[in-house]
Amino acid sequence: MSQAALSTTIRRRRDFPKDANLCEHCSAKCCHYFALAIDEPVTRRDFDFIRWYLLHEHATVFVEGETWYLLVYTTCKHLQQDHRCGIYETRPQICRDYTTDECEFEDDWCYEKYFETPEQLDEYADALFGRQFPDPNTKKHDRLRSRRPTALPIA
Ligand code: SF4
Ligand code: SF4
Repeated sequence: MSQAALSTTIRRRRDFPKDANLCEHCSAKCCHYFALAIDEPVTRRDFDFIRWYLLHEHATVFVEGETWYLLVYTTCKHLQQDHRCGIYETRPQICRDYTTDECEFEDDWCYEKYFETPEQLDEYADALFGRQFPDPNTKKHDRLRSRRPTALPIA
């Protein structure tokens, strides 16, 4: 994509006046997911537990700093068609505390680690601990340490 095309598709904070309310120009990105800090996996069993999260639709896991998070893409049931909050006066405190200072308005953040599928997490854990399950593409006899030698012909 050309730089010119990029500049028309990516909106930057700097494109708006300092006193602008960015939420007025956003599709309420922060109302389409929730993220919870989770224990950092240490053992193979911990990783397998996180793999279970990832077996669920819309569940992902990311790591920022030393902290692991469960990130679930799901839209708040009170988000209205016009991207406004349907319970603005009584919205939860976490919504009140959230500000545009470091929000995802610009969509340009990246995670240190990001797992979208259980296979990705398994591959990562396999690299740390060794394979958890036999490779389904490997034939059973190939899993032996060595094949049975062919017997010498009897004279
Ligand atoms: S806080 Fe940020 S992400 Fe949320 S609606 Fe406002 S501009 Fe969009
Ligand atoms: S309660 Fe309102 S501000 Fe909070 S996530 Fe739902 S729609 Fe967004």
